[in-house]
Amino acid sequence: MERILFVATEGLPFVKSGGLADVIGSLPNELRRKGYDVRVVLPLFKKIAINWHYKFTFLRTYTVNINFEEKQVNLFYYIYNDVTYYFIEHRDYFEREGLYGYEDDGERFAFFQKAVLEMLNQIDYFPEIMHCHDWHTGMIPCMCKENFNHDYRYRSIKHVYTIHNLAFQGNFGRLMLGPCLGLGDYVFDNGNVRFDGGISFMKAGIVYSDKITTVSPTYAQEIKTTQYGERLESVLRFREADLCGVVNGIDTEMWNPKTDSLITKNYTSRTYKKGKAENKKALQEKLGLEVNEDVMLIGLVSRLTWQKGIYLIIEQLFNICNQPVQLVFLGSGEAGLEEKLREAEVSNPGKVCFYCGYNEELSHEIYAASDLFLMPSLFEPCGISQLISMRYGTLPLVRETGGLKDTVIPYNKFTGEGTGFSFSNYNSNDMMHVLWEAINLYYNEPDAWKQLVKNAMNKDVSWEQSAEFYIGIYKELVGE
Ligand code: ADP
Repeated sequence: MERILFVATEGLPFVKSGGLADVIGSLPNELRRKGYDVRVVLPLFKKIAINWHYKFTFLRTYTVNINFEEKQVNLFYYIYNDVTYYFIEHRDYFEREGLYGYEDDGERFAFFQKAVLEMLNQIDYFPEIMHCHDWHTGMIPCMCKENFNHDYRYRSIKHVYTIHNLAFQGNFGRLMLGPCLGLGDYVFDNGNVRFDGGISFMKAGIVYSDKITTVSPTYAQEIKTTQYGERLESVLRFREADLCGVVNGIDTEMWNPKTDSLITKNYTSRTYKKGKAENKKALQEKLGLEVNEDVMLIGLVSRLTWQKGIYLIIEQLFNICNQPVQLVFLGSGEAGLEEKLREAEVSNPGKVCFYCGYNEELSHEIYAASDLFLMPSLFEPCGISQLISMRYGTLPLVRETGGLKDTVIPYNKFTGEGTGFSFSNYNSNDMMHVLWEAINLYYNEPDAWKQLVKNAMNKDVSWEQSAEFYIGIYKELVGE
């Protein structure tokens, strides 16, 4: 087994809106290093076009049928870090300001998936494994098995489907089944893609794939329950023999405090104290916070949505601000949350900073400068931010859910073990209790804090182990 095609909608360094891009930007590299011919196919979004298009090589043009019209696909490729990336260009569908959230998302991503399947007919690369990610690619195993079954090459492909976030499902009206997806009514009638009277791309991915993975073992268990299953729990339980959780890694070259060129002072686990102090001072100056290298700096880099537990922080903002700490928030999202964080900044000058927006460089500076990273998520399939923060010696304070539970070892005051702090119930008082514990430890037990930082920085957050796990899955599927 050699050839694995990743199908996704975002991936670094080309385009990113969340953790999916981190995964698509790093797992293929690790598999490539291990000798596999991994390639990746992405839509050519405007954000990619602006920065990268001039570097891409045109490969060919072909058409796919959507809504009874032949729509043109322009296929480009680019080799980055020894991995071949294909880009599906269609200006009407993809050259828009945002990536997702348009009325015709169903049609846009139906087009993308059809274009990917047809692409295999057009190029001299036929994968043994197609590894699809999240709802935007969930129809691929279904269309491949239903529409291409007569072709031995397509029939031989094994499908792996990874759920990065079950909350986003790609649910649309059933009318697009025939005209957009080219599927017969029977896949609706037999329930394979049916959901709430319409169709679900996510459900189709779960039903039709040979193996379903999600991004942590705990989330793999959680999504089989009503609490976390987003109404797909029974489908997931039906497929549980083929469902497993594999924790994400991060690109440890890009996220490396020793070499990171976006931060003020590089450091290692031996020199972290001095390094953090300098990064902290630089960030405080930059953001208008009171310059004080001794104060505990708490960071947060996140989409501002209900999923991320931001409400717990807002509930306790008054109490948190009464502590000897500074807070820096980077993110954007729900207007109500943005407003609350803006208010906190205005009421606490020099102590709280809220940067509203997406800023890659600032995120590096926050990971490097902060002492503690807040991530009290309501649910968290894996979470990338806590992995990055541990790598930068910034102790994560997390709720014990999904990948947060699997990756952060909570501080044990009896043994001194741990790589961060955690609480179990989704309750702001419980979060506050642990935060007090962390603040106390930071100021009053610096040796214990130092040990936690070292543990965190020495934790293996690379892809090494998880990539082996995926290879095991691929090999099992092709019978090796
Ligand atoms: P999710 O994928 O649910 O958004 P993850 O923790 O898995 O959450 O991944 C989030 C990734 O996006 C991390 O790499 C984080 O640093 C980055 N990120 C989130 N918000 C911002 C922002 N406003 N600016 C820069 N990077 C961000």
